[in-house]
Amino acid sequence: MDKLKAKLIELFQSGEITLAIGYKQGTRGPRPFFCRSASDVEQMIFSNDYQPNLAVYLTKKEVVKDEKVAIVCTISALRSIAYLARENQIGQSQYKIIHLSPNDELMIFRSPWDIDPYIEEIPSTPSEDDRRVIEMLDAMTSEERWAWWAAQFSKCIKCYACRAACPMCYCTRCIVDNNRPQWIDPWASPLSNMEWQINRVMHLAGRCVGCGACGAACPEGIPVHLLNRKILDNIEENFGITAGLAPREGAVLNTFKPDDKENFIK
Ligand code: SF4
Ligand code: SF4
Repeated sequence: MDKLKAKLIELFQSGEITLAIGYKQGTRGPRPFFCRSASDVEQMIFSNDYQPNLAVYLTKKEVVKDEKVAIVCTISALRSIAYLARENQIGQSQYKIIHLSPNDELMIFRSPWDIDPYIEEIPSTPSEDDRRVIEMLDAMTSEERWAWWAAQFSKCIKCYACRAACPMCYCTRCIVDNNRPQWIDPWASPLSNMEWQINRVMHLAGRCVGCGACGAACPEGIPVHLLNRKILDNIEENFGITAGLAPREGAVLNTFKPDDKENFIK
């Protein structure tokens, strides 16, 4: 942590950055910290387990504006940045990408392309708690699974915190905000809640990095990230695309190979 703080202080003092996005202690745990001076760096804290995923801010023009930005990244944030670069949402040398590895090595990536060789070595795996729920759901019949998710989504209040927390949900106009035509009812109801989540997970299929920030953000405790995790696993199994790695040839639902399996067509 000392190495990270020293580097940020050096970058502020040399004028190379005007904003460092990292974490500080909040009343209920770590929270995003927009640090604007060397003297404030001392408040910075870091662990690779922290939520939220800070990469979400890099596509928000109102946050990064004309600032010279350093972002302090967890492994999940690195995965997201690699994806955002592949989708042309961030430039090659637009941000200073800083990371503390689990063995405390300070790493600075000159470009998002340099992230791939590092994260390729780190598997994206769900937590033990999440794995247990996934196994429970896998053991159900499809009718039981539908009923389980319908009960979960009956709690949804359509606050869209799951969308706001996701670095890969960056459309300037989301389908749920569209009212000409009105694709999905804006109020919470069993049907529209299900429509909203099916739309959300399908738009993220093959693009989700498995960070879990959407589930962590849900005020109703709905584990929406597990839907995305299941799709990640399905994609890995059927298309050989490693979970959490941005495929060089493009997202799986945007591309076609003649030898793609079609065993999902029933
Ligand atoms: S869908 Fe959820 S788990 Fe996937 S990248 Fe977005 S916030 Fe992370
Ligand atoms: S964060 Fe939870 S309550 Fe809010 S829209 Fe998403 S699923 Fe619904």
